[in-house]
This record gives sequence, structure tokens and C-alpha cells, in this order.
Amino acid sequence: MKKIVIIGGGIAGLAAAYRIHEAIAQDAPVECVLLESAEKFGGKISTMRFDGFIVERGPDSFISQKPQAIELCKKLGLADRLTGTNPDHPSTYVYLNSKLVTMPDGLSLMIPTKFMPFIFSPLFSWSAKIRMGMDLFIPKKKGDDDESLASFVRRRMGEEALQKMAEPMLAGIYASDPELMSINTTFPMFVQTEQKYRSLILGMLARKRQQMIHQAKAPAGKQPFSLFMTLKNGLDEMVETLVEKASSITFRAETKVVSLSRNEDGWDLTLDDGSSMSSDAVILATPAQITARLVEQTTPKVSELLNRIKYVSTATVSIAYKKEGFPHSLDGFGFVIPRTEGKRILACTWTSSKFPARVPDGCVMLRCFVGGAMREELAEQDGDAIGTMVREELIDLMGIDREPVFLKVFHNKKSNVQYQVGHAKLIESVYEELKAVAGLYVTGSAYTGIGIPDCIRDGTKAAEDAIEFLTGKTKT
Ligand SMILES: Cc1cc2nc3c(=O)[nH]c(=O)nc-3n(C[C@H](O)[C@H](O)[C@H](O)COP(=O)(O)OP(=O)(O)OC[C@H]3O[C@@H](n4cnc5c(N)ncnc54)[C@H](O)[C@@H]3O)c2cc1C
Repeated sequence: MKKIVIIGGGIAGLAAAYRIHEAIAQDAPVECVLLESAEKFGGKISTMRFDGFIVERGPDSFISQKPQAIELCKKLGLADRLTGTNPDHPSTYVYLNSKLVTMPDGLSLMIPTKFMPFIFSPLFSWSAKIRMGMDLFIPKKKGDDDESLASFVRRRMGEEALQKMAEPMLAGIYASDPELMSINTTFPMFVQTEQKYRSLILGMLARKRQQMIHQAKAPAGKQPFSLFMTLKNGLDEMVETLVEKASSITFRAETKVVSLSRNEDGWDLTLDDGSSMSSDAVILATPAQITARLVEQTTPKVSELLNRIKYVSTATVSIAYKKEGFPHSLDGFGFVIPRTEGKRILACTWTSSKFPARVPDGCVMLRCFVGGAMREELAEQDGDAIGTMVREELIDLMGIDREPVFLKVFHNKKSNVQYQVGHAKLIESVYEELKAVAGLYVTGSAYTGIGIPDCIRDGTKAAEDAIEFLTGKTKT
């Protein structure tokens, strides 16, 4: 029996474990242990439940256009636990000149696909609208060199589209500086659209037409998923169910791996209680800096490459109020704030509008985002200072000057990976170097995608590679 050890029980490590569990069920001659340093599995996914509130410390949902998270939930028997966003309040706002301005209908990831709402939107100046419309005529870029999100958007849509949309909405997802982040790794569909259709607007319109044809052909009564999906009891329902269902895997929490070295046949691991363990293959599902430290002895080159990947700090603040007399209608999913507005929060989700079942009757709940690549120091303050700052900002932004029912600050210190220009090449070099290191695999948000579906895809692939290495079979 060959042994695989997975280090790290975030969603990437858990997806790897589940794939190995499936292989074992089909008689793959392997055994598997997953080692997690924290008390609980799930890594960044962590849900709190109290007094009728469901509060997410990290991610609150996943995108349904990438199918891996929905597929995993279905395999785990959680299909009927999946839930979408509230269809009654789909609008999102941008905070601009002391007002919340609705994003025009038909704006698909900053690209206008409906003419009238865009033309009459107060969000952009006339000159910006004309400049954005020039996307229809600008030739496509030659070559496939990576560029920054800022450079890409400036080139196709102009400065105002960058400041009011791309920076708060798109760079915001990554808590990144748009001048540094890689367009090829973060929004490859924009690059592909430009290459295929020349114009982003023409490309998006073509895609919308294809989607409509696809939906018309879908079996009657089959509801499409909303863009963002989650689980009724919070995202860690997926984590807890996976650990329960992957019964052929040994899951060990509160077990930190402190070193990793090669032996004649495989790998030796040292744990923080001083004990050791050996293994035929190892999947490192830890953040890049930790992986870099663990592989330093075996492959200094991989360690050096991984150390180039930057992480920044963010904080989220969940805050609830009594609904009675609340000074805002919360008729949307929330708002983003362009950096040019000079505010101390990046965005605010109106959780009780987006996911109404997450709050008890009679209450509303918001979630504010702080820090990221451009204001990291704000997220590194202590919890009280962040809480006070967010309350001051909410008075100013939304006129909320009442006592909250609760306020909880969650620090994500150096937790948000930054995909900077050239990231894909860096990761290719990591994979190339690892080809020479038998039985060692890496996975997680540092590599090919930060979203939960990306991490599931990546973890599953790492497990398949490890099984193939140990059994010689490509699929089990
Ligand atoms: C605030 C925030 C909001 C987000 N929102 C969303 C969202 O809404 N939707 C979405 O799709 N994505 C979102 N993301 C991104 C997504 O949550 C992460 O990219 C993903 O969960 C990372 O999973 P992972 O398995 O790669 O890493 P992690 O979750 O970081 O897991 C790594 C695990 O390794 C463990 N570990 C570390 N060192 C050791 C060691 N030496 N030995 C053993 N174990 C070790 C850690 O304790 C941890 O559990 C968000 C991220 C953050 C920070």
C-alpha cells in the first residue's frame, strides 16, 4: 500500500483528499493522511453561527460559472443545500461624489452590453462613455505578453473605466493594485475575448447570445444557478461534510508539519509534537511562503520561486443592526468605493439583502472590506481600531449612526495572494522544476486561481497526479 500525505486542510487540500478517497473506493492501492495545523479544517473557509446569524470570516460564496464547487457539493450529497443570491435585489452600487450610484444594467464585468442603460447612466462622464465605446474600433494587441489589469483597461476602455469600475470591482476581488496585477492570470477571459473578437463589447455580446441559445435549449423547469452560490448553513457545511464523507482518509487537525525531507524511497515529515512520519508522495496544499519553507532543503529553486509570490493583509468586518428604523433601504448587494474617493473601506456587502437567510428576523447585516495591496496598513491595525474606523465610515457613507447588535472584526494577515504580471510564467517554472522531484506536488490558491472552484480543480489535479505517480494509472 502506497501512502500519500496532504499537508494543509484548506479547500485545495480537502479536494485532493476527496479525489483520493474516490480512487480508494475504486480499489486504488493507496492510503492517505491529511495534516492540518489549525483546530478546524477549511483554511480560509470558516463560518460562525450564533443567535440566528450565519457569519463568514472569509469567503461567503463561489462563482457558479466555474462548475467544480457545485459538482463537489453534488458528490457530497449537498445539492439541495445549495442556495443562490436573492433575486429581488440584484443591483450593485458605486460610491461616487458622496452618493451611491447604481451600476447600469447590462454591465458585464465592466463591459457594457446594453446600450440605453449605459448611455443614461450617471456613473460615467460623456467623454468616458465615448472612450469606452472606442473599444469597438481599437485593434487587438499583438503578441501574448502579460500586462497589468490597469494597462489593459486603459488601452481598451480608458482611464475613467479603470478608476470607477476595474479598480474597485475587478482589482477589488483580488485585494490588489491594478497597476501590478496580471491580466493573463486574473481575467484571462478578457484577453481571450480581445484575441477572438478584437473588441470586448462585441465579444461580450456574442457570448450573451450564446448563453441565451444555451438557456433556451435547457430542459424546461431547470433553474439556472445564480452567479454566486453558497450553502444554506454557510460555506463550512461543504468542509464538514467532506471530512465526514471521505471516510477512507485519515484527517488530523492540530498537526503542524515543521519539516520535509527526502529519503531513499520517498519522504520524511517532522511534526510539531516531535514525531515523524514517512510517505511515498506528498501534496503541499499550504500557502506559498509555507510551501517555500518546507521545500527549501529539497529544491531551493522552487523555494526561491515561491518566495516571489506576494501576499497582502485584509480585514473583514461583519456588523448587524436592528431593522426597525434602520436609515437605509439596502436595496441591492452593496457597493464598491473607487480609491479616488479617499475612503478607508474598499467595499461593503449588504449581506442581509444578498443572503436573507443569514440573519434573524428583525435584523440587517453588512460586511465591510478593509486593506488590500493599496491600504494594507489599515487592515493591520488592532480589531478595536478597525471596528471604530468602519463605524465612522458607515456614518459618512450610509448615515448609520446607531449602536450595532454586534460587530466582529476578522484579520486576514498576509492571506490574500497577489497574482502579479508574469505570474503564469513563474508558476510554469515551478511546475517545470518539480518534474525533477519525484512524488512532490503543490496545490492551492497560490498557483492558477484564487476562487474556491479554482482551488478544487487544482487540488483534484494534484491528487490525480500523485495517484498516477504511485499506481501508474492515469485514472482510477
Ligand atoms: C477575506 C477573503 C474572502 C474571500 N472571498 C472569496 C469568495 O467569496 N469566493 C471565493 O471563491 N474565494 C474567496 N476567497 C479566496 C478563497 O477563500 C481562497 O483562495 C481559498 O479558500 C484558499 O484555499 P487553499 O486551500 O488554497 O488555502 P487555505 O485556505 O489557506 O488553506 C491552507 C491550509 O494549510 C494549513 N497549514 C499551513 N501551514 C501548515 C503546516 N505547516 N502544516 C499543516 N497545515 C498547515 C492552514 O492552516 C490552512 O488551513 C476569499 C479569501 C479571503 C481571504
